[in-house]
Amino acid sequence: MVGRFGKSAVEKLSIYNKENFVTNVGTDSNPLRVAIIGAGPAGFYAAEHLFKQKNLVIEIDMFDRLPTPFGLVRNGVAPDHQKIKSVTKVFDRTAKKPGFRFFGYVDLGEDVSVDDLKKHYHQIVYTTGAQTDRNLNIPGIDLEGSHAATEFVAWYNGHPDYVDYEFDLSQESVAVVGVGNVAVDVCRILCRTQAELAVTDIADYALEALKESKVKDVYMLGRRGIAQAAFTAPEVKELGEMEDTDVVVLEEEVALGPLSESSMTEADRGTTRKVEIVQGYAGRPLEGKSHRLHLRFLVSPVELIGDENGHVKAMRLVKNELYETEAGTLRPRPTDEYEEVPVGLVFRSIGYRGVPLEGVPFNDSWGVIHNQAGRVIDPETKEHLVGQYAAGWIKRGPSGVIGTNKPDAAETVDNMIADLADGKVNQPEHPEPEAVEKLLADRKPEYFSYSDWSKLDDLETAAGEEQGRPRVKFVTIEEMLAARDSG
Ligand code: NAP
Repeated sequence: MVGRFGKSAVEKLSIYNKENFVTNVGTDSNPLRVAIIGAGPAGFYAAEHLFKQKNLVIEIDMFDRLPTPFGLVRNGVAPDHQKIKSVTKVFDRTAKKPGFRFFGYVDLGEDVSVDDLKKHYHQIVYTTGAQTDRNLNIPGIDLEGSHAATEFVAWYNGHPDYVDYEFDLSQESVAVVGVGNVAVDVCRILCRTQAELAVTDIADYALEALKESKVKDVYMLGRRGIAQAAFTAPEVKELGEMEDTDVVVLEEEVALGPLSESSMTEADRGTTRKVEIVQGYAGRPLEGKSHRLHLRFLVSPVELIGDENGHVKAMRLVKNELYETEAGTLRPRPTDEYEEVPVGLVFRSIGYRGVPLEGVPFNDSWGVIHNQAGRVIDPETKEHLVGQYAAGWIKRGPSGVIGTNKPDAAETVDNMIADLADGKVNQPEHPEPEAVEKLLADRKPEYFSYSDWSKLDDLETAAGEEQGRPRVKFVTIEEMLAARDSG
């Protein structure tokens, strides 16, 4: 058979197989065994692309530390963005392909190690995403009432690790630092009415807590100008369409200066559209709605000020101006103008960050696994660690939308297949699929299979149907185990 390399990968293997090192990996008698670590979008796109390989027999085991699959689609995408979540239908189809197994509730580093995986798989792909937040180093950032937006997002989405987090929604004034799409999500959830939230799959406890919310004023703070804002046009447009929220914009903060104007090209329609939408808000009369969402630009928080109990009570902001770097980008620099905004709750939403995996080389300054086009490399020798790969946010950093992970994962998979054709795969001692089940029976007997997840999925959606919601989520591991083991 003729495949993507002219000859099939299998034929090519025998050509490169000088030392008889790799014999027949990828055939019926010796399928290519791949472990994917992380059941989010990048993991599923990698699996999908692997299954598309003609002439190769591939078996995929996907691991996740949670019992539930889909990563950020379940635990990150905002509950009022159900359309985006429908991508899980595509992932579900991949999961139901022959040769795919899901091992949920299995933690790499805790239950199994990289060395364990090397004993069972020819190739390992890390798709663990970016599980923490970038820090904001200003005085007062650790005061009570100051949180990472990532925590709030995980909390309202019912991520089991965040169920017990508390956010003081008795405050009337809230600041959200950053103007990316996550900041936009957080602002929307804070400003939505109960009726708007009640039709979503937001965690029940979050729905209850937000019902009692006293939040009136939300300040979303951009350190640069509107033309440099990270949010996208549809997302900022949606802010102006909420039921009970007036959007407040200061005209002088969204007037484009000469630097911004000359940086915008005609081809850059997305930016032009964003600028138009936000400038449009500046001219809108307030309608006396119960929430006011203030979109502020060219300001940076320099300090959080606490009360006598160590709770944040205000934020000190400095006004910025833009300057052009030698590379031609527009950056902010502080002026000598300051202001103080009274806020009792602060979310820093300045980007996610990957966390290291035990036994996998990590680039700490970038928050990603050391890799070249998805091949995990030794940072000292720059050599590829044969059989190890990365895809998604843990490979390239937290950028782009869910679909961006598709070409990203395809690049990694193409390199995996090319390496296989070159005979560069790990040689596991126990490639037989049963060996993994045996290992897990010992290490994590409570692991979740895909059919276990399907059972939870059915129960969640059935409970949702009764309430006119997409689903009612199980939010603790105990609940998930009990539901799985119920009759
Ligand atoms: P992001 O898009 O990278 O935005 C980060 C924001 O934080 C930027 O406004 C950035 O400003 C600001 N920032 C960084 N450091 C700062 C500092 N020290 N002080 C003040 N501001 C600072 O990150 P994100 O919002 O976490 O989103 C991650 C990715 O997920 C993005 O690609 C996003 O589009 C995507 N996402 C998409 C959706 C959707 O499609 N609906 C929803 C959520 C997330 P500068 O630009 O000045 O650095």
